[in-house]
Amino acid sequence: MENVAVVHYDEIALKGANRKMFEGALVSNLEQKISDKQIPFIVSRKWGRLLIEKLDGSHIEELKKILSSTPGVVVFGLGISVEPNKESILEGVRHVAQHIEEDFNTFRITTSRVNKKFELTSNEMNILAGDAVWKILDGKKEVKLKNSDINIRIEILEDVSYIYVKEQGLSGLPVGSSGRAIALLSGGFDSPVATHMCAVRGVRPILMHFHSYPQTSKAAMEKVEELGKVLKEVCGPITLVLVPLLDAQKEIAIVAPERLRVILYRRLMMEAAEKYALKNNAKAIITGEAVGQVASQTLENIGVVDQATSLPILRPLAGMNKREIIDRSREINTHDISVLPHDDTCTVFMPKHPETRAKLKDVIEAEEKYDKESLVAHMLERSEVIKL
Ligand code: ATP
Ligand code: MG
Repeated sequence: MENVAVVHYDEIALKGANRKMFEGALVSNLEQKISDKQIPFIVSRKWGRLLIEKLDGSHIEELKKILSSTPGVVVFGLGISVEPNKESILEGVRHVAQHIEEDFNTFRITTSRVNKKFELTSNEMNILAGDAVWKILDGKKEVKLKNSDINIRIEILEDVSYIYVKEQGLSGLPVGSSGRAIALLSGGFDSPVATHMCAVRGVRPILMHFHSYPQTSKAAMEKVEELGKVLKEVCGPITLVLVPLLDAQKEIAIVAPERLRVILYRRLMMEAAEKYALKNNAKAIITGEAVGQVASQTLENIGVVDQATSLPILRPLAGMNKREIIDRSREINTHDISVLPHDDTCTVFMPKHPETRAKLKDVIEAEEKYDKESLVAHMLERSEVIKL
């Protein structure tokens, strides 16, 4: 009886010719995260599943955390491998049932057979194993086929059988398999949620934060760093770029119409992000904007900000309500960091009446009063790159 973690990845398996690339990305993301935690392991592929073996049993909780937060993992389980015969499987099932730590009242068994010549049908195996679990747990747990608390899976292959409690993964695509994007991270609730959503669709985010230090506090930057560390749990090692905006803001405050300031800052952010993206092979920009959430996020303003870059801007929260976004932030563990107060770069030299329906013509006219390109170059030259 050996410890094993079994990983299934349906969605990526469907991708035909790309399958090898997706599998490779998932394997390397898992290897990266597991070796980061210094867990002894070997990852291998077998019959459309991944196996993580040579576990010494002491890292189960850490591994569970990794597998439940890695995009591309649809279903997983930490359990054991045994000889593929009836007696060994029943012994294994009893062992797994006795080691379930969470509280539960109901369970079911789900057998699947790759080896169709196995001595029992899946249903016969389910009945025998269900009976064995019921007995070993003193008849205190009920079998329930629909919505049971626990689902014990038995997979019977040609030369081995795996037994584990089924856990749900994040699904989606392995991070990196869809390419890279610059994620604009502000410290609020929205942008970490937006970044997480794109990461689950296979995007590898490079985090970019604009600050107005020393006008805004160091704490605001540290907050973004903390958010980055939470996103790292999902994405693996992640880069955070801290870009100083204050000098550009000072110049804009002097030469451009007050009501356009926020939009002008935003367009500078897009240009800096695009420039950094081109150098770092990123193909899109992610923001946490939602239509109409605040006065600056009208369709008119969004349109004008869009025109600052030729890269696609991904706005996965576009149609979400604030309540939904905050609920989501709790699920992905960014809530308690986002909720802390922080200085907002965009409110530095905040106009009394910010424009809510900007016109591109006026914005371009304002931008003619300063040298955008050199401001962007200056910002990027002085930015700080942190590997989280
Ligand atoms: P969030 O909750 O993400 O802070 P918000 O509701 O405060 O968003 P805005 O301040 O209008 O909304 O910002 C909209 C989006 O613009 C943010 O989600 C983020 O992607 C980007 N953004 C705003 N400020 C910054 C900043 N200082 N650095 C990087 N990105 C920013
Ligand atoms: Mg904000």
